[in-house]
Amino acid sequence: MEVREFQNMMRRIYFRRDSARGAAGTFNWLRDEVEELEAAIDAEDKKALEDEFADVLAWLASLANVVGIDLEGATMKKYDGKCPKCGRTPCNCTT
Ligand SMILES: [Zn+2]
Repeated sequence: MEVREFQNMMRRIYFRRDSARGAAGTFNWLRDEVEELEAAIDAEDKKALEDEFADVLAWLASLANVVGIDLEGATMKKYDGKCPKCGRTPCNCTT
């Protein structure tokens, strides 16, 4: 499944609720899931890591749907096969 397909799937499943909640409320859910991902990293819990990566990606796609951003288009525009800062692959940035 490609990023655009995933985002479209999330739109089909959740857009009605996501759009009613709005960008700020949906962002709050994304932030909560990022914090849960941090906890899974700290716990070194592989199952929790899988769950939280899935949740973060799902809520990121939901938020992109609410604000009308095509995740695949935006990411490929910025990360088109090289580092957007140094223009190299692999990245040669010092930080
Ligand atoms: Zn770089």
